[in-house]
Amino acid sequence: MTIKRRQFIKAAGAVGAATGLSLSGLRFANAGSGKHVVVVGGGAGGATCAKYIRHFDPSVEVTVIEPKTEFATCFMSNWVIAGFKEQNWITHGYGDWSRKHGIKVIHDLVVDIDAAKQTVICKSGQVVNYDRCVVSPGVDMKYDTIDGYSEAASHLVPHAWHAGPQTTVLRKQLEAMPDGGLFVMAAPPNPFRCPPGPYERASLVAHYFKQHKPRSKVLILDSKDAFSKQGLFTAGWKQHYGFGTDDSMIEWRSKANDGTVQAVNADNRTAMTTFDEIKADVLNVIPAQTAGHIAYKAGLTDASGWCPVNHMTWESKMHKNVHVIGDAAIASPLPKSGYAANSEGKVCAAAVVAMLKGNDVPTPSWVNTCYSLVTPDHGVSVAMVYDAKDGKVSKVKGSGGLTPVGGAYGLEAVYAESWYLNIVDDMFG
Ligand SMILES: Cc1cc2nc3c(=O)[nH]c(=O)nc-3n(C[C@H](O)[C@H](O)[C@H](O)COP(=O)(O)OP(=O)(O)OC[C@H]3O[C@@H](n4cnc5c(N)ncnc54)[C@H](O)[C@@H]3O)c2cc1C
Repeated sequence: MTIKRRQFIKAAGAVGAATGLSLSGLRFANAGSGKHVVVVGGGAGGATCAKYIRHFDPSVEVTVIEPKTEFATCFMSNWVIAGFKEQNWITHGYGDWSRKHGIKVIHDLVVDIDAAKQTVICKSGQVVNYDRCVVSPGVDMKYDTIDGYSEAASHLVPHAWHAGPQTTVLRKQLEAMPDGGLFVMAAPPNPFRCPPGPYERASLVAHYFKQHKPRSKVLILDSKDAFSKQGLFTAGWKQHYGFGTDDSMIEWRSKANDGTVQAVNADNRTAMTTFDEIKADVLNVIPAQTAGHIAYKAGLTDASGWCPVNHMTWESKMHKNVHVIGDAAIASPLPKSGYAANSEGKVCAAAVVAMLKGNDVPTPSWVNTCYSLVTPDHGVSVAMVYDAKDGKVSKVKGSGGLTPVGGAYGLEAVYAESWYLNIVDDMFG
């Protein structure tokens, strides 16, 4: 993110003024400023934004409202599903983070936002006032797009597209599956959280099978005719899993080839396409997605189901003084990724601090890299830098790209883990 020199000096001055204050001193300073930001959702976008608001201006009081007491990252949850990382490796608490940065955390669910009164209403009945509110609730599943699928059915047939209990359920189902079994994944239509995510999951499940259940197969039933990093994935599948041969461990069926799952029977783990009915041993249905429910309830979404925002400030186009970041926002060409949510969180934090002071908003830029594993030692990535053109996010020509075919796949796998450790430290450290 670029901050103009004058604004950087102001922000640095504010940080400097707070240096040496104890935590109680910081809390005292909060009370003095009179400005309060409420962040709805303590995930990738919300945690980053909350922390950076406090960094840019420690006099601003920040309250994060998040129902969970621990946050499991979706990023790298496929590694847990494949069995080479444990769930606790992707799980992060809020206690130290809240104390270290002087951020108040309320564990509650936000059920509404009253933009006129500038209040957030919690399930417990608590009402919290704000000067500015940042909403980063992630995505919700559109269960009703697949007949027979529902929140209840997802306990038997997990989507595991929110990391947490369903990550563990899917892992256990794979462990219990007999050798020679069939893992079927229904991949969602665009736009959805983490475009390469389903294909990394298919790769790593195949890797697990190759090691432990070598007669088993992975079938991807896709609602799309193309997917992210497709050339890199299919080259990796050929190299490791015999893709394209009669003996392939992975089969991908595109939308044009009757891939769209129309209905499921969760009780007997069957997926129905227009012309086919496929019985799975483990069925993983990832449905179409929409902005987290609170965004809709608070009137922040448009007809697309996502939240239109001003990219310079991430302020909602529907309600003043409310900002939306992360997967819920219409951010294209930025993808719905944790790295993009982190980048948006910082830009939004700088804008919120400037707007609270009545200053000019800094000129933003953003960055994203998505790593995926084909095996634990074979990584691929796509990267891009973005700047603002005519008030909108725009790709910087020549700034990014894909891992070249035949590139340093081993190193990319090392970078993927390193990226994870760095980004979670930036969010939750
Ligand atoms: C399998 C998988 C793999 C992925 N891999 C990668 C990767 O390698 N790299 C990458 O960059 N991204 C990856 N992603 C994408 C990444 O997880 C998301 O893009 C990112 O988490 C989005 O951040 P967010 O803040 O919008 O939502 P989240 O991180 O999901 O945070 C939303 C938070 O809001 C809370 N919340 C929701 N509603 C309310 C409410 N009403 N009141 C209070 N709190 C609420 C939720 O409890 C949650 O904690 C992956 C995703 C999946 C599913």
